[in-house]
Amino acid sequence: TLQDRLAATFKNLRGKGRLTDADVDATAREIRIALLEADVNLSVVKEFVNAVKVKARNAEVSQALNPSQQIVKIVNEELTEILGGQTRNVRFSKQPPTVIMLAGLQGAGKTTLAGKLATWLKREGHTPLLVAADLQRPNAVKQLQVVGERAGVHVYAPQPGNGIGDPVQVARDSITEAERKLYDVVVVDTAGRLGIDAEMMQQAADIRAAVQPDEVLFVVDAMIGQDAVNTANAFQEGVGFDGVVLTKLDGDARGGAALSIRKVTGKPIMFASNGEKLEDFDVFHPDRMASRILGMGDVLTLIEQAERTFDAEQSAKAAAKLASSKGGKEFGLQDFLEQMKAVRKMGPLSKVFGMLPGMGQLKDQLENIDEKEIDRVEAIILSMTPSERADVTILNGSRRSRIAKGSGVTVSEVNNLVNRFVEARKMMASMAGGAMGGMPGMPGM
Ligand code: GDP
Ligand code: MG
Repeated sequence: TLQDRLAATFKNLRGKGRLTDADVDATAREIRIALLEADVNLSVVKEFVNAVKVKARNAEVSQALNPSQQIVKIVNEELTEILGGQTRNVRFSKQPPTVIMLAGLQGAGKTTLAGKLATWLKREGHTPLLVAADLQRPNAVKQLQVVGERAGVHVYAPQPGNGIGDPVQVARDSITEAERKLYDVVVVDTAGRLGIDAEMMQQAADIRAAVQPDEVLFVVDAMIGQDAVNTANAFQEGVGFDGVVLTKLDGDARGGAALSIRKVTGKPIMFASNGEKLEDFDVFHPDRMASRILGMGDVLTLIEQAERTFDAEQSAKAAAKLASSKGGKEFGLQDFLEQMKAVRKMGPLSKVFGMLPGMGQLKDQLENIDEKEIDRVEAIILSMTPSERADVTILNGSRRSRIAKGSGVTVSEVNNLVNRFVEARKMMASMAGGAMGGMPGMPGM
């Protein structure tokens, strides 16, 4: 996964809080692979990664994030923006009925979507009419009728016995029907083929011309992967559309089709379909799609949390103390406590570490981090006076036993903490200004 590969990149980053060209290039390479694995079209990937590189080089250096995290954040923001640019709701006609036409390949999920849209429209206070303008397959009309019944909406279909019927005529008649019976939204279901087909395109274009839809929605299966661009282009040319609906997002597709289609056609993705049931449907959420494409929701969550809880000033002070000439001796237990609190604000420790790339191997040990142990450490430090916290060398026997009583632990637990702290500080001081720039608040741990 991207997470694992970034872990390797992290290792090579010196983490000085500075985005060097090498950092940007190394991370950009991983992002590029991640996007390709998510089935984003190659030329779209190239263009996108280049744009991100430019942004990353011009970005202000973040104090809360290490270089890799910062680039991931930029990528995520850029993805979200592109996916969500010009997001808009259905444009309802001032003069009802509003006409929504569905177009797309066979099996994309148009008929299912018709039912979902009807359900959604009803909830929004509309009175939708579904129109069966797919007369290609024998079963298509019946399928829409079943869907309509489930959604509790009326379905306009050609009368049986009149031969195959003309889908263009059916669509045209449905508008008159809607006007007469005061349906305020008409959803026209159309036929698709398994592949792009001139006759099918022409029929869809004819229906479009006949009913002059307010919205033509291109319905596309998210699993289609690399074919998304060709299919979208063909429909753009053959029929034209105003918005995109991505279906089958409940599958394991990473959703690269979303980015490709958005980039290539410039049309907004308006809805997302994630299941066969009527309620498996939502307006499109660009941020969710971005993290799905990147395949690293956990890392993104961690980045957000790190930024939220990061106290730049405090962390800089702690780092300065550690890096000072006295070999880190200025870094006292009070600093330790604050660092620990900063980290804890991010969530349970085992989870915080678990989300860090490269920490996968440590997972078993992390499971064993005892939060109660940390509570005990906190209690011990809080039982000390400020001068004791600042300088542990003054902790003689009587002070230690007072602290033990005050925090409800044994003297040997106090000794244990002090010894571990002194050891940890030595190690942190030797790393300060070096490899530790990564996570804020981490020196304390
Ligand atoms: P159409 O040919 O474009 O009208 O596609 P259909 O609406 O008939 O859907 C084709 C198949 O995909 C059906 O079996 C649907 O139940 C299924 N389907 C549609 N949308 C979704 C979805 O979001 N998720 C899943 N898992 N299946 C879907
Ligand atoms: Mg259908």
